[in-house]
Amino acid sequence: MSREQQAVARARKAFETGRSKPLEHRIRQLKNLQRLFTERQKVIADAIKKDLNKSEVGTQLYETLGLESEISLTIRKLKEWAAPRPVEKNLLTLSDTVYIKPEPLGVVLIIGAWNYPWAVTIQPLIGAIAAGNAAVVKPSEVCVHTAKVMEELLPLYIDKELYPVVTGGVPETQELLRQRFDHIFYTGNSRVGRLIMDAAAKHLTPVTLELGGKSPCYIDKNCDISIACRRITWGKYSNCGQTCIAPDYILCDPSIQDRVIEEIKKSIKEFYTDDPKTCPDYGCIINQHHLKRITAMLEDSTVAVGGDYDESHCYIAPTILRDVRPEAKVMQEEIFGPVLPILPITSLDEAIKFINKGEKPLALYVFTSDDKVIERMRDETSSGGLLVNDCLVHYSVSSLPFGGVGNSGMGCYHGKFSFDQLSHLRGCLIKKLKMEGVNSMRYPPHTLKKLGW
Ligand code: NAD
Repeated sequence: MSREQQAVARARKAFETGRSKPLEHRIRQLKNLQRLFTERQKVIADAIKKDLNKSEVGTQLYETLGLESEISLTIRKLKEWAAPRPVEKNLLTLSDTVYIKPEPLGVVLIIGAWNYPWAVTIQPLIGAIAAGNAAVVKPSEVCVHTAKVMEELLPLYIDKELYPVVTGGVPETQELLRQRFDHIFYTGNSRVGRLIMDAAAKHLTPVTLELGGKSPCYIDKNCDISIACRRITWGKYSNCGQTCIAPDYILCDPSIQDRVIEEIKKSIKEFYTDDPKTCPDYGCIINQHHLKRITAMLEDSTVAVGGDYDESHCYIAPTILRDVRPEAKVMQEEIFGPVLPILPITSLDEAIKFINKGEKPLALYVFTSDDKVIERMRDETSSGGLLVNDCLVHYSVSSLPFGGVGNSGMGCYHGKFSFDQLSHLRGCLIKKLKMEGVNSMRYPPHTLKKLGW
């Protein structure tokens, strides 16, 4: 048996003992996970510093604080989420008990990505534990140091049979995907998303796919451009643009393009100093493969700001491209780096048309002071989430479902949505063996007289 097969078999066996189901067990595991984040902050931050050159404060802000608050919320609400949910009845079932009972699915496979390696791997695990499942955790191999720390730390805090960590790259993930799971929760790019779905189909395993794509950012002439650009700068260049919901490109009227460039340039300087390369809050590109991929996108567009890079330090300066054409290289795939193209468009109609021509994005950003523009963007486009006059923060609202649509993914999570996503919502109807007279009307022989017609 391979290492992967063994981990899955052990998780299945542990699940079959039934010990993942009692709420006390789930809460205990979640509290242990919370303890991991308070006690091991330094080890976690050191590994992320090596992988992504993130500062310790940055790791807390963008990775662990969100997880800790998700755990607290889940512990607080678990009893309510797991309880039977009474539903409306029809005439035939008026005297019965009818409810939805969430139940665990079984063994879940969680495959994480590298850009926020703790957030995107542990957030689904919180949902899996809360819903009473076993879960095999596969962190991204791209964050070498973090994957190792995760593999070492998780078994020290949570049940290692029920929630094993399997490390490795593509061959190990593919070996895992050959096993039978009851749900696969994948975060990563859309190309691999298709492979995941393909593998899942063999066992009819349901999937959640948290993918990416090109999230548009529309700036209306009617808005405070200076504030809009500050927020866009933060949303775009945080984690060096390696954020699934980073604004990918800007659509704006040609008359405001220069102003937008100037304002973003000003904010880049404010946030990351004159020398972002040495700024502790800027980070780096994950590896040279991604650096080459991103810099190749600059070739056929005009650089307005930045554009310089240093391969040996995996550094690409915060970059803005101006007057970008839809056919340009940078517009052919998700950028996932600190390059911000601006596409001039002359009307809201044109912007809507452009957005609808592409795949449905994970996020859509609209900056405007005009309610009509908000309404039209909301009603005439589609995306995983919509955020008006800010970037990224919808991710932090656990009462909102987080997930994609179409090419940006399927299924959603965060808060109760994670619990529901990783539960089977079992429809239950409990009848008594009484009042048989009422039931008689549905038994044959069917006559109009029986129905009183
Ligand atoms: P990655 O390279 O870390 O891959 C993700 C996982 O897929 C890894 O665990 C890896 O082992 C596995 N994998 C890679 N190739 C595989 C293959 N051929 N077969 C089986 N498994 C394979 O991460 P990535 O894909 O570069 O991540 C970036 C992408 O993820 C971006 O598109 C980004 O938008 C998206 N993303 C989405 C979210 C979200 O919440 N929707 C969050 C983070 C990242």
